[in-house]
Amino acid sequence: MSTLPAGDGVTTARGAHGSVLVLNSGSSSLKYQLVNPVGGEAIATGLVERIGEDGPGLLKHKFAGNATVREQPIADHGDALRLALGIFEEVGPSIEDAHVRAVGHRVVHGGAIFSEPTLIDDDVLRQIRDLIPLAPLHNPANATGIEVARELLPDVPHVAVFDTAFFATLPEAAATYALNKDVAEEHGIRRYGFHGTSHNYVSGKAARVLGRRLEDLNQIVLHLGNGASASAVRGGAAVETSMGLTPLEGLVMGTRTGDIDPAVVFHLMRNAGMDVDEVDTLFNKQSGLKGLSGENDFRALHELIAEGDEDAELALDVYLHRLRKYIGAYAAVLGRVDVIVFTAGAGENDDVVRSRVMEGLEGFGFAVDPERNAGRISEPRVISPEWARTTVMVIPTNEELAIARQCLEATGA
Ligand code: ADP
Repeated sequence: MSTLPAGDGVTTARGAHGSVLVLNSGSSSLKYQLVNPVGGEAIATGLVERIGEDGPGLLKHKFAGNATVREQPIADHGDALRLALGIFEEVGPSIEDAHVRAVGHRVVHGGAIFSEPTLIDDDVLRQIRDLIPLAPLHNPANATGIEVARELLPDVPHVAVFDTAFFATLPEAAATYALNKDVAEEHGIRRYGFHGTSHNYVSGKAARVLGRRLEDLNQIVLHLGNGASASAVRGGAAVETSMGLTPLEGLVMGTRTGDIDPAVVFHLMRNAGMDVDEVDTLFNKQSGLKGLSGENDFRALHELIAEGDEDAELALDVYLHRLRKYIGAYAAVLGRVDVIVFTAGAGENDDVVRSRVMEGLEGFGFAVDPERNAGRISEPRVISPEWARTTVMVIPTNEELAIARQCLEATGA
């Protein structure tokens, strides 16, 4: 049994609710976080990268202020999780000491089936696999992660928390594409929305921070990470969101196009000799900010702009223009906007993005105060001026904590 330094959160984790291990399995990565769902702190975090790739894989584990790094071949997700669990035993916290009550799995696509955190059994796992045609880039790895975790941690409940779940409340008019009804129904083609765990968490938190009832607030949530999405939330229920059948629709993102005329696909396939997989890769991995400027990280983009790079300047303009259009559209959807929330990597850290997107929106009652907005923001904060009708806020997202708490609800712990 390892000796745990004081103040690392494990003491609390041993309390009535124990801890929750949250897993996010990507195609070649496994992110994990051991969370105290009551106190909210991350007890330990880690990332395994380059799973199943040529050359060594990489594990980084952080616990009690120490980072442990391992480089070794990692054949598959089973190997990755075994390695991570081994590190827990080696450098702490021991999984047994941490009293893990549940394992929470982030699952990207819940289709029309899953709208709640769901206790996983063989049947649920099969249904998650059945949804692979709707999320070929994400659900396969999510399902594999679940499979290996259930094998390696058989004595605790496993819960799937779906990125789409929060958007199950979208009205039919918002969820329906104007596509031939029979084709759409046969193939499950509709707007599902993603990043739901984050939109749900920050919209709830905004109400609590303001001391207002969630039911009374109309909110626009802007989740601006590498992937980016906007939502309109009325009284705590999502009524619009920018992502659709897949996370490709909507805002300009780090490497994704967001909205684009679907005829561009026909054009490229007919005239550029591209096949469907090439177009898929082009739209998802080689476009967005990166496709326009060569950089998908805002820090690098700002540096290029400072050097006078015109492609970078245009990339930022395109990004902001799209975002502003969505804010305007969602104001129209909601009729009245009480709160606008910025969250995720760029939303929390990039004051230039936050202030520039709000430029010229004073007529709608939307504005950002330069002093309140300045710098990176790591605690919930109001950034609008006193006079503004709408409260603009930054609320750091915490998807792992949200997943951990939903796990406890689902297991009745
Ligand atoms: P994801 O979870 O989608 O990978 P994150 O929410 O972690 O994304 O956001 C990552 C993005 O946040 C980076 O690509 C970068 O553009 C932006 N970002 C992170 N830190 C900063 C910063 N200090 N200043 C500006 N942008 C930042």
